[in-house]
Amino acid sequence: MFNGSIYKDEYGKVLGAVFVARDITEIKKSEQQLFYAKTMAETASTIAEEAKKLAEEAQQIAESAVKAKQQFLSNMSHEIRTPMNAIIGFTKVMLKTDLTAKQRDYLNAIKLSGDSLIVLINDILDLAKVESGKMTFEQIPFKLASSISSMLHLFEPKIQEKNLKLIKKYDDKIPEVLLGDPVRLNQIILNLLSNAVKFTTTGKIMVSIHLVSEDDKKATIEFAVTDTGIGIKKENLETIFDNFQQASNETTRLYGGTGLGLAIVKQLLELQGTHISVKSKVNKGSTFSFTLNFFKTNAMVESIPEIIQLDSEVQDIKVLVVEDMALNQLLVRTLLDDFGFKCDIVDNGKLALDKLKTHQYDIILMDLQMPEMNGFETTEYIRNTMKSSIPVIALTADVTTVDIGKCKEAGMNDYVAKPIDDKLLYSKIVTLVKNTAPNTVETLIEKIDVITEKIQHINLEYLHTLTKSNSKLMKEMIELYLKQTPPLISIMKNSFHDQDWQSLSSAVHKMIPSFSIMGMKKDFEATAHKIQEFANTQTFIEDIPEMVLQLETACEQTCAELEEELEKIK
Ligand code: ADP
Repeated sequence: MFNGSIYKDEYGKVLGAVFVARDITEIKKSEQQLFYAKTMAETASTIAEEAKKLAEEAQQIAESAVKAKQQFLSNMSHEIRTPMNAIIGFTKVMLKTDLTAKQRDYLNAIKLSGDSLIVLINDILDLAKVESGKMTFEQIPFKLASSISSMLHLFEPKIQEKNLKLIKKYDDKIPEVLLGDPVRLNQIILNLLSNAVKFTTTGKIMVSIHLVSEDDKKATIEFAVTDTGIGIKKENLETIFDNFQQASNETTRLYGGTGLGLAIVKQLLELQGTHISVKSKVNKGSTFSFTLNFFKTNAMVESIPEIIQLDSEVQDIKVLVVEDMALNQLLVRTLLDDFGFKCDIVDNGKLALDKLKTHQYDIILMDLQMPEMNGFETTEYIRNTMKSSIPVIALTADVTTVDIGKCKEAGMNDYVAKPIDDKLLYSKIVTLVKNTAPNTVETLIEKIDVITEKIQHINLEYLHTLTKSNSKLMKEMIELYLKQTPPLISIMKNSFHDQDWQSLSSAVHKMIPSFSIMGMKKDFEATAHKIQEFANTQTFIEDIPEMVLQLETACEQTCAELEEELEKIK
């Protein structure tokens, strides 16, 4: 690079020139390098952005694949459960009849397979629930010692059969009543214990429960299940907690199982902020342990009734069975006949209320999902409108997805999960009937009068205010509701049937504003919002049919009431 300049005297006359020459090869070189680097950086960042976009798309695809998998598993599990319940139920019924030894063996094999299939289905549903973040834990007062004892009873036959020894070590210092979720705790210990029994052929199984520490508010308790079984190789200790993983390929062939039990245990504990530990030596045995914190409480615990044996004294019990599925009706009738109880069976809640008008019953067995009027609505009506305290036992298809709290809220006294355990059903019926004062004829007649009143779904107070009681306007609004609602109900039902979630959500969305205008109960609005949420996120799809049915029934009833109202206005 050359720089040149002239220099002058004070009069401006040019005296000379100065030239400076510099070699700028290096500068040019680094400029070029800089330019090259910049271009490269820009290209790299464009590539990175594209890669990011692709990654995001891939993630979305992966996420929807996971969702689709969860949905498929949970739908299928539900579909499989219903016929399985009937298979197991009828097998149990047949096992009570006169059979040859061979027939008994075959039926026992069917029952055993059915039982394991139900366990597997429940496991899959549980995992789907955990993965979608919908697993919740209760905080109820319970007695840990008796909860553990009754669980250990379950294993006695199997342990005796294998000639093993069961040792229970229970720390007496543990507070009697704790706050927690006994069902989930049992589920965890049950899984560990059934593995211990399954993988041990000689020796002993020890369940030890001891108090680690305690303060005014809470107690920290360690649970451990130790066995003298086949043990687990060191390299497999991590993977056995993964879904569908077993320690070796031989495990299924030799011991059965699916590799889901420990995955569920791990997740159930992690969700409660703790973890499972394992120590194991091949051919020596294994110890699975975990600690959990429980709040202490002074609350009393309802005592769990012992299972009562069949008793000839209590045979004149009259049961009303409310159940819509023919198979289940037949099964319950067979069980009740077997107990020597009398029963009437109706298809839905509405028919149940009709029956209660003219007959007297000691107890009601109530299915939850039914057309016309479901189990929750029927029980609420029996409690709130009829003011009857007749015991109601819910028959639930599955305790993991049905909200037990909701059953209690509706006024049900207890629940029995399908497949129905006959001894448990018998025991619950007898306990509830014995503990409830019989209905006198007078009170029953009083109650019957109440039933003849219809359940009113609408309350037009708001519409009156809105229209300033202008009958023309009111008529128009009611007519509009009557015109738009039936098609919306059909869209809602069809889109659920076709699994068109967007259309389901939008149909329900369109229904919501009219609920408050026609003065329908706030519950329906809440149900509609829930359907929308579940449809939008495609979670808890198994709960949607019941809610759709609820809305359908409520809207149909509302339409009928509005037709009458319209006549009056006209
Ligand atoms: P499953 O028992 O259905 O196979 P799990 O998830 O409960 O599934 O257990 C996973 C695997 O861990 C088992 O297949 C087995 O290989 C190993 N395992 C679990 N518990 C024990 C035990 N107590 N002793 C030996 N192996 C065990």
